[in-house]
Amino acid sequence: MRLVLASGNAGKLVEMRGILEGMAIELVAQGELGVSDVEETGATFVENAILKARHAARLTGLPALGDDSGICVDALDGAPGLLSARYAGEHGNSGANIDKLLDALRNVPEESRGAHFFCVIVLLRHADDPAPLIAEGRWHGRVLNAARGTAGFGYDPIFLDPQRNASAAELDPAEKNRISHRGQALARLRELLQSAS
Ligand code: IMP
Repeated sequence: MRLVLASGNAGKLVEMRGILEGMAIELVAQGELGVSDVEETGATFVENAILKARHAARLTGLPALGDDSGICVDALDGAPGLLSARYAGEHGNSGANIDKLLDALRNVPEESRGAHFFCVIVLLRHADDPAPLIAEGRWHGRVLNAARGTAGFGYDPIFLDPQRNASAAELDPAEKNRISHRGQALARLRELLQSAS
């Protein structure tokens, strides 16, 4: 089966190809098929993932995978949430996003700094598929008071995994991929694909 990945992110393509290995699935990036990003107008992660997958499926005629992710902070009613990538305005400015989040939580004590990373991946068999496969992952932790570690990306330096007493940016990348929201969603997707085939 040929599947289109509704993302322009090369890292995601490699990660997803890895998880689909041995499954007789050829994953093609939407850019290779001339599909550009769609506007993310949904109000939830799952809506945005479906919007992306539907757009790619519609334009290519292939089944499509779409994903969305972000960090949700309890004390901020789930913000930055869908706006995680552009919380401080400019898309993908991790330093500014981290500063804004630390500032928003300046007076919040440790026990109230709970947060989780969330990731959803959907598979639409065709653009009008009414029952997509939906795989989710959640990684629970806490927002630190200051950055720790140099690995990873985005909010990793200020996200503490309490079980390992390490920030996501202090973890070995393979360890992070195994336990993270994205790792969990990918593992679930693999299960769903196996039971659907
Ligand atoms: P997207 O799913 O590629 O749109 O990612 C949304 C945003 O959520 C990223 O730009 C990051 O700011 C944040 N994010 C998602 N996953 C992670 C992660 O594993 N570590 C740190 N930040 C993340």
